Amino acid sequence: MPGPLSVKNLSVHYHLQDEPALSDVSYEAAPGHLTAIIGPNGAGKSTFLKAVMGLIPYTGEVKVFGQPLKDQKHKIAYMPQRSSVDWDFPISALDVAAMGLYGQIGFMRRVTKQHKTEALSYLDQVDMADYADRQIGQLSGGQQQRVFLARTLAQNADLYFMDEPLAGVDITTEKIIISILEKLKKDGKTILVVHHDLQSVGNFFDKALLLNQTKIAEGPAKKVLTPDNLAKAYKTPVLTDVA
Ligand code: ADP
Ligand code: MG
Repeated sequence: MPGPLSVKNLSVHYHLQDEPALSDVSYEAAPGHLTAIIGPNGAGKSTFLKAVMGLIPYTGEVKVFGQPLKDQKHKIAYMPQRSSVDWDFPISALDVAAMGLYGQIGFMRRVTKQHKTEALSYLDQVDMADYADRQIGQLSGGQQQRVFLARTLAQNADLYFMDEPLAGVDITTEKIIISILEKLKKDGKTILVVHHDLQSVGNFFDKALLLNQTKIAEGPAKKVLTPDNLAKAYKTPVLTDVA
């Protein structure tokens, strides 16, 4: 059985940049695991997810369950980084969650009562059903993040990519998101999460991929977080008590 995500010699060079954002990264995602993608600011973590989703040009090869990406997009759910979303867009929490169902509804078709019920059930999973009719701009940052997670869940995929879902959220939201990640894992899904906080990687994730333009290390989270690897990735001495 081909793995959920196989990346070979992935490189990304943004227009007019001197250096590639990513260079020659090869990686096989661990099936049914919760993997943290870590590395300093500007390391290429978001670039990695965008490239494997086919959202930006890259060189190298990406296969999803053994097939080219273009045939497998329905098997992937993606939650973008918070800063890339327009939170002033006038849309309700329920509509955001329902957007996750578009793959199933089709863009031009009507959202039926049944779709709304389904979208509501995803809002319920993130404890946001009571806010279904609220405009997203009126919600707190943590609540917005949960609504976005509901949309991601509604995509009902096999492979989940999430870009910093836990950055800057309140403790209630953190607990809800972590429990959802664990549930997805229990259901056999493969989940890759860009994570900003080295201290908590070992608590929340079983595997880690450490990037800084190239792949520095991958494997069990606690084995990746060695002082040596972190020094290579961060280029300056960092806390050594994170493992
Ligand atoms: P991370 O998510 O790890 O913080 P990114 O993947 O966002 O890092 O960025 C990696 C590098 O690519 C950074 O140097 C960043 O400035 C650059 N970069 C990201 N997006 C673009 C873009 N659209 N155009 C040019 N350079 C970019
Ligand atoms: Mg990023």
